[in-house]
Amino acid sequence: MPIDRLRSDVHYAILVVFAIVGLLGIAPFAVYRFLRGDWLAGAVDTGVVAVLAATLAYLWRGGSPQRAAIVFVANNTLGCMLIAVNLGLPGVLWTYPALVSNFLMTSRRIAIVAAVALIVGVALFDPVLDALDRAGYVVTAALTSVFSFLFAQRTHSQRRQLERLATHDALTGLYNRRAMESELAAAAETFRRHRLPVALAVLDMDHFKRINDAFGHEAGDQVLVRFARIVQGRCRASDRFFRYGGEEFVLLLPGAGGEGLRRLLEELRTTVETRLQIDGRPVTVSIGAASLRADESVTQWLARADAALYRAKDGGRNRVELAEDVEDPLAA
Ligand code: GH3
Ligand code: MG
Ligand code: MG
Repeated sequence: MPIDRLRSDVHYAILVVFAIVGLLGIAPFAVYRFLRGDWLAGAVDTGVVAVLAATLAYLWRGGSPQRAAIVFVANNTLGCMLIAVNLGLPGVLWTYPALVSNFLMTSRRIAIVAAVALIVGVALFDPVLDALDRAGYVVTAALTSVFSFLFAQRTHSQRRQLERLATHDALTGLYNRRAMESELAAAAETFRRHRLPVALAVLDMDHFKRINDAFGHEAGDQVLVRFARIVQGRCRASDRFFRYGGEEFVLLLPGAGGEGLRRLLEELRTTVETRLQIDGRPVTVSIGAASLRADESVTQWLARADAALYRAKDGGRNRVELAEDVEDPLAA
């Protein structure tokens, strides 16, 4: 539904608004040019309006915003150039909103290429500007492009920062619980489609309260950071490591299962035991893991791994337990 998409997808909304404003702004000029007998300018304006309308219809029917943006940028650039060559100053004035909107709609690289093409094209082929006005045009249009570029750059880096804040844990830099929920759902979907085994492990630091009590919360934080680094250092490229909350972590392991899974987690557990210390004493972790089954939800999958973790705690901590060890004794 396009209305929902207008709310949720900023890029889509910018393109739709651009197309509507462009249509409303340019269509009267097309009529006016024809009435004045400027057939060429009228034809160019009509062409620009037709492309805007067709691309708006394409967007409304669920088209790709990236493709639509490239069409708009090409339309802006070509339309302005033709009008400038044909009419002089009026075309030159239209290049300013075109330059700014290009930076709002598409990647900075494409917008820069379009800006250079437009400014050079107009400066070379405009039939009415004298040398001084031509120089003035190049400088003002270039400045408009530079400011638009800086604005686009800033917006882009702020969006990246916001995305990072929304998906990462501030202390450890790992993916957070929100990212975990969507990654687990995606992993379950992949599993259902391709039937490749996938396991998840819940890792809970042992007696972490004691660490905080003995050495303070700050020192506890540093232990969590070091723990995250150690585990991440052992992860394969396809593994995903999340901070689930507090001193609990989740490791998503595509392709792991059975004895391979146990070996991998045992290795992880011993690595932590030998490499993570506070005040010369080892810090340990308990791990519960479960392989995803065809008939279960992500919540059930997590719950089975959690139940295995409780067994690891009950069994004395600093242990690995697999959900598969106790379940379905009658299953084949
Ligand atoms: P167990 O072996 O049974 O897991 O013992 P535990 O003490 O680790 O278990 P519990 O879940 O009762 O306590 C977790 C502690 O972790 C309590 C809480 O203060 C501490 N903790 C949770 N988040 C943080 C954090 O971000 N930084 C620090 N320093 N401590 C945290
Ligand atoms: Mg704990
Ligand atoms: Mg805990």
